[in-house]
Amino acid sequence: MVKRSDIQNIIVTGKSGAGKQPRIDVLVSEFGLEQLSTGNIFREYVGSFDDSGFKGDLEAFYDEINDTFVKDEFIEKAIKEQLPDLEDIRPVFLGLKAKYFMNSGRFVPNRTTNELFAEYFSKGGYKGFVLDGYPRTPDQAEFLLYLCEKNGTRIDLIVLVNNSDKLIIDRTVGRRICPSCKKVHHIEFKPSRDGIHCDDCGVELVQRADDTAERIQMRLFEFYDKVIPTLDILEKAGIPIVTVEGNLEVFTEENVRRSVMERIDPLLE
Ligand SMILES: [Zn+2]
Repeated sequence: MVKRSDIQNIIVTGKSGAGKQPRIDVLVSEFGLEQLSTGNIFREYVGSFDDSGFKGDLEAFYDEINDTFVKDEFIEKAIKEQLPDLEDIRPVFLGLKAKYFMNSGRFVPNRTTNELFAEYFSKGGYKGFVLDGYPRTPDQAEFLLYLCEKNGTRIDLIVLVNNSDKLIIDRTVGRRICPSCKKVHHIEFKPSRDGIHCDDCGVELVQRADDTAERIQMRLFEFYDKVIPTLDILEKAGIPIVTVEGNLEVFTEENVRRSVMERIDPLLE
Protein backbone atom coordinates (compact mmCIF):
# COMPACT_ATOMS: atom_id res chain seq x y z
CA MET A 1 0.00 0.00 0.00
CA VAL A 2 1.23 3.43 -0.89
CA LYS A 3 -0.12 6.83 0.03
CA ARG A 4 -1.71 8.66 -2.85
CA SER A 5 0.64 11.60 -2.36
CA ASP A 6 3.68 9.31 -2.20
CA ILE A 7 3.35 7.86 -5.71
CA GLN A 8 6.78 8.18 -7.36
CA ASN A 9 6.60 6.47 -10.75
CA ILE A 10 4.03 4.48 -12.71
CA ILE A 11 4.66 2.41 -15.83
CA VAL A 12 1.95 2.30 -18.49
CA THR A 13 2.27 -0.55 -20.92
CA GLY A 14 0.26 -2.56 -23.43
CA LYS A 15 0.20 -3.52 -27.07
CA SER A 16 0.80 -0.81 -29.60
CA GLY A 17 -2.64 0.64 -30.36
CA ALA A 18 -4.23 -0.62 -27.12
CA GLY A 19 -5.20 2.90 -26.04
CA LYS A 20 -2.45 3.88 -23.63
CA GLN A 21 -2.50 7.65 -24.09
CA PRO A 22 -5.92 8.41 -22.53
CA ARG A 23 -4.88 6.35 -19.46
CA ILE A 24 -1.55 8.17 -19.26
CA ASP A 25 -3.47 11.46 -19.31
CA VAL A 26 -5.51 10.29 -16.31
CA LEU A 27 -2.39 9.36 -14.30
CA VAL A 28 -0.64 12.61 -15.18
CA SER A 29 -3.56 14.66 -13.88
CA GLU A 30 -4.50 12.47 -10.88
CA PHE A 31 -0.99 12.17 -9.47
CA GLY A 32 0.74 15.24 -10.85
CA LEU A 33 3.27 13.16 -12.78
CA GLU A 34 5.10 13.93 -16.02
CA GLN A 35 4.82 11.66 -19.04
CA LEU A 36 8.21 10.26 -20.03
CA SER A 37 8.05 8.64 -23.48
CA THR A 38 11.13 7.06 -25.02
CA GLY A 39 9.98 8.30 -28.42
CA ASN A 40 9.92 11.88 -27.15
CA ILE A 41 13.29 11.54 -25.44
CA PHE A 42 14.80 10.39 -28.72
CA ARG A 43 13.24 13.25 -30.62
CA GLU A 44 14.36 15.77 -28.01
CA TYR A 45 18.01 14.71 -28.03
CA VAL A 46 18.08 14.37 -31.81
CA GLY A 47 16.65 17.91 -31.88
CA SER A 48 19.49 19.16 -29.63
CA PHE A 49 21.98 17.49 -31.95
CA ASP A 50 20.42 18.97 -35.09
CA ASP A 51 20.26 22.44 -33.53
CA SER A 52 23.92 22.30 -32.52
CA GLY A 53 25.02 22.41 -36.14
CA PHE A 54 27.54 19.61 -35.65
CA LYS A 55 28.87 18.41 -39.01
CA GLY A 56 30.54 15.14 -39.76
CA ASP A 57 30.14 11.51 -40.64
CA LEU A 58 28.48 9.77 -37.70
CA GLU A 59 29.68 6.40 -38.98
CA ALA A 60 33.13 7.47 -37.75
CA PHE A 61 31.88 7.21 -34.16
CA TYR A 62 30.64 3.66 -34.48
CA ASP A 63 32.86 0.62 -34.26
CA GLU A 64 31.13 -1.83 -36.60
CA ILE A 65 33.41 -4.73 -35.72
CA ASN A 66 32.65 -4.60 -32.02
CA ASP A 67 29.12 -3.30 -32.64
CA THR A 68 29.44 -0.40 -30.23
CA PHE A 69 30.19 3.32 -30.21
CA VAL A 70 33.81 4.38 -29.90
CA LYS A 71 34.85 5.56 -26.42
CA ASP A 72 32.75 8.41 -25.02
CA GLU A 73 35.89 10.57 -24.67
CA PHE A 74 36.44 10.49 -28.44
CA ILE A 75 32.88 11.55 -29.17
CA GLU A 76 33.05 14.31 -26.54
CA LYS A 77 36.37 15.52 -27.88
CA ALA A 78 35.05 15.73 -31.46
CA ILE A 79 32.02 17.74 -30.30
CA LYS A 80 34.13 20.12 -28.17
CA GLU A 81 36.58 20.71 -31.01
CA GLN A 82 33.85 21.63 -33.42
CA LEU A 83 31.59 23.47 -30.96
CA PRO A 84 33.93 25.08 -28.39
CA ASP A 85 31.27 27.50 -27.15
CA LEU A 86 28.74 24.82 -26.30
CA GLU A 87 27.74 25.15 -22.64
CA ASP A 88 26.22 21.74 -22.09
CA ILE A 89 27.72 19.05 -24.24
CA ARG A 90 25.56 16.22 -22.88
CA PRO A 91 22.36 16.67 -24.97
CA VAL A 92 24.42 16.92 -28.17
CA PHE A 93 26.46 13.88 -27.17
CA LEU A 94 23.36 11.78 -26.53
CA GLY A 95 21.68 13.25 -29.61
CA LEU A 96 24.59 12.13 -31.75
CA LYS A 97 24.12 8.55 -30.59
CA ALA A 98 20.37 8.66 -31.18
CA LYS A 99 20.85 10.29 -34.56
CA TYR A 100 23.27 7.57 -35.62
CA PHE A 101 20.62 4.91 -35.14
CA MET A 102 17.93 7.06 -36.69
CA ASN A 103 20.02 7.54 -39.84
CA SER A 104 21.15 3.95 -40.10
CA GLY A 105 17.63 2.62 -39.56
CA ARG A 106 19.12 0.01 -37.26
CA PHE A 107 17.48 -1.32 -34.17
CA VAL A 108 18.49 0.79 -31.16
CA PRO A 109 20.35 -1.42 -28.70
CA ASN A 110 19.35 -1.56 -25.02
CA ARG A 111 22.49 0.21 -23.82
CA THR A 112 21.77 3.29 -25.93
CA THR A 113 18.08 3.37 -24.98
CA ASN A 114 19.09 2.93 -21.33
CA GLU A 115 21.65 5.73 -21.55
CA LEU A 116 19.16 8.21 -22.98
CA PHE A 117 16.43 7.14 -20.59
CA ALA A 118 18.69 7.39 -17.52
CA GLU A 119 19.74 10.92 -18.43
CA TYR A 120 16.15 12.13 -18.67
CA PHE A 121 14.99 10.13 -15.64
CA SER A 122 17.77 11.73 -13.57
CA LYS A 123 16.48 15.21 -14.35
CA GLY A 124 13.43 14.60 -12.16
CA GLY A 125 15.51 12.94 -9.45
CA TYR A 126 14.38 9.51 -10.74
CA LYS A 127 10.78 10.14 -9.72
CA GLY A 128 7.62 11.92 -10.75
CA PHE A 129 7.06 10.14 -14.06
CA VAL A 130 4.60 8.04 -15.99
CA LEU A 131 6.91 5.83 -18.01
CA ASP A 132 5.62 5.21 -21.51
CA GLY A 133 7.43 2.89 -23.91
CA TYR A 134 10.02 1.97 -21.30
CA PRO A 135 11.02 -0.60 -20.22
CA ARG A 136 10.23 -2.75 -23.26
CA THR A 137 12.85 -5.49 -22.81
CA PRO A 138 14.01 -7.58 -19.83
CA ASP A 139 17.39 -5.85 -20.02
CA GLN A 140 15.72 -2.44 -19.73
CA ALA A 141 13.62 -3.66 -16.78
CA GLU A 142 16.73 -4.80 -14.91
CA PHE A 143 18.37 -1.46 -15.62
CA LEU A 144 15.35 0.48 -14.38
CA LEU A 145 15.22 -1.53 -11.15
CA TYR A 146 18.93 -0.87 -10.67
CA LEU A 147 18.50 2.89 -11.27
CA CYS A 148 15.66 3.12 -8.75
CA GLU A 149 17.48 1.10 -6.12
CA LYS A 150 20.67 3.10 -6.54
CA ASN A 151 18.82 6.40 -6.22
CA GLY A 152 16.35 5.44 -3.51
CA THR A 153 13.23 5.71 -5.65
CA ARG A 154 10.73 3.13 -6.88
CA ILE A 155 8.13 2.11 -9.42
CA ASP A 156 4.85 1.97 -7.51
CA LEU A 157 2.74 0.13 -10.03
CA ILE A 158 2.25 -0.92 -13.61
CA VAL A 159 -0.91 -0.16 -15.55
CA LEU A 160 -1.38 -2.71 -18.33
CA VAL A 161 -3.87 -1.47 -20.92
CA ASN A 162 -5.57 -4.54 -22.30
CA ASN A 163 -7.05 -4.86 -25.77
CA SER A 164 -7.61 -7.82 -28.09
CA ASP A 165 -5.30 -8.39 -31.04
CA LYS A 166 -8.31 -8.48 -33.34
CA LEU A 167 -9.68 -5.12 -32.26
CA ILE A 168 -6.26 -3.49 -32.51
CA ILE A 169 -5.75 -4.89 -36.01
CA ASP A 170 -9.24 -3.83 -37.17
CA ARG A 171 -8.82 -0.33 -35.79
CA THR A 172 -5.36 0.21 -37.17
CA VAL A 173 -5.68 -1.32 -40.63
CA GLY A 174 -8.81 0.76 -41.33
CA ARG A 175 -7.26 4.02 -40.18
CA ARG A 176 -6.88 6.75 -42.81
CA ILE A 177 -5.18 10.10 -42.28
CA CYS A 178 -5.60 13.39 -44.09
CA PRO A 179 -2.07 14.26 -45.27
CA SER A 180 -2.96 17.94 -45.08
CA CYS A 181 -4.76 18.55 -41.75
CA LYS A 182 -3.73 15.22 -40.12
CA LYS A 183 -7.33 14.46 -39.14
CA VAL A 184 -7.79 10.75 -38.42
CA HIS A 185 -10.59 8.75 -40.03
CA HIS A 186 -11.53 5.10 -40.15
CA ILE A 187 -13.02 3.38 -43.22
CA GLU A 188 -15.61 1.65 -41.06
CA PHE A 189 -15.94 3.41 -37.70
CA LYS A 190 -15.38 7.03 -38.74
CA PRO A 191 -15.48 7.43 -42.52
CA SER A 192 -15.39 10.80 -44.27
CA ARG A 193 -18.50 11.78 -46.27
CA ASP A 194 -17.41 10.13 -49.50
CA GLY A 195 -15.11 7.66 -47.77
CA ILE A 196 -12.14 8.75 -49.85
CA HIS A 197 -11.40 12.43 -49.34
CA CYS A 198 -10.98 14.65 -46.26
CA ASP A 199 -14.22 16.55 -45.60
CA ASP A 200 -12.33 19.75 -44.80
CA CYS A 201 -9.44 19.69 -47.27
CA GLY A 202 -10.77 17.59 -50.16
CA VAL A 203 -7.45 15.77 -50.19
CA GLU A 204 -7.38 12.01 -50.60
CA LEU A 205 -6.97 10.21 -47.26
CA VAL A 206 -3.95 7.95 -46.90
CA GLN A 207 -2.89 4.97 -44.84
CA ARG A 208 0.21 5.47 -42.71
CA ALA A 209 3.13 3.14 -43.48
CA ASP A 210 2.95 1.93 -39.87
CA ASP A 211 -0.73 0.97 -40.14
CA THR A 212 -0.46 -2.04 -42.45
CA ALA A 213 -1.45 -5.50 -41.18
CA GLU A 214 2.14 -6.66 -41.51
CA ARG A 215 3.56 -3.84 -39.36
CA ILE A 216 0.87 -4.33 -36.70
CA GLN A 217 1.57 -8.07 -36.53
CA MET A 218 5.24 -7.24 -36.02
CA ARG A 219 4.43 -4.91 -33.12
CA LEU A 220 2.08 -7.47 -31.57
CA PHE A 221 4.81 -10.10 -31.84
CA GLU A 222 7.22 -7.76 -30.10
CA PHE A 223 4.73 -7.34 -27.27
CA TYR A 224 4.44 -11.10 -26.64
CA ASP A 225 8.12 -11.75 -27.26
CA LYS A 226 9.68 -8.88 -25.29
CA VAL A 227 7.19 -6.93 -23.20
CA ILE A 228 5.53 -9.90 -21.46
CA PRO A 229 8.89 -11.24 -20.15
CA THR A 230 9.71 -7.65 -19.13
CA LEU A 231 6.56 -7.48 -17.03
CA ASP A 232 7.44 -10.84 -15.44
CA ILE A 233 10.69 -9.40 -14.16
CA LEU A 234 9.01 -6.32 -12.72
CA GLU A 235 6.27 -8.38 -11.10
CA LYS A 236 8.84 -10.70 -9.52
CA ALA A 237 10.52 -7.59 -8.13
CA GLY A 238 7.28 -6.95 -6.24
CA ILE A 239 5.70 -4.27 -8.41
CA PRO A 240 1.91 -4.73 -8.67
CA ILE A 241 0.32 -4.86 -12.12
CA VAL A 242 -3.22 -3.63 -12.64
CA THR A 243 -5.03 -4.41 -15.87
CA VAL A 244 -7.24 -1.71 -17.35
CA GLU A 245 -9.55 -2.35 -20.29
CA GLY A 246 -8.55 -0.38 -23.36
CA ASN A 247 -11.94 -0.77 -24.95
CA LEU A 248 -14.87 1.05 -23.34
CA GLU A 249 -18.54 0.77 -24.29
CA VAL A 250 -18.90 4.52 -24.07
CA PHE A 251 -15.70 6.47 -24.42
CA THR A 252 -15.87 9.62 -22.32
CA GLU A 253 -13.20 11.35 -20.27
CA GLU A 254 -15.02 10.45 -17.06
CA ASN A 255 -15.39 6.78 -18.06
CA VAL A 256 -11.70 6.54 -18.86
CA ARG A 257 -10.78 8.16 -15.56
CA ARG A 258 -13.06 5.84 -13.60
CA SER A 259 -11.84 2.71 -15.43
CA VAL A 260 -8.28 3.52 -14.41
CA MET A 261 -8.84 4.79 -10.88
CA GLU A 262 -11.19 2.02 -9.77
CA ARG A 263 -8.34 -0.42 -10.42
CA ILE A 264 -5.70 1.69 -8.70
CA ASP A 265 -7.64 2.92 -5.66
CA PRO A 266 -7.56 -0.47 -3.86
CA LEU A 267 -3.74 -0.26 -3.91
CA LEU A 268 -3.69 3.17 -2.28
CA GLU A 269 -3.78 3.92 1.42
ZN1 LIG B 1 -7.89 17.42 -44.08
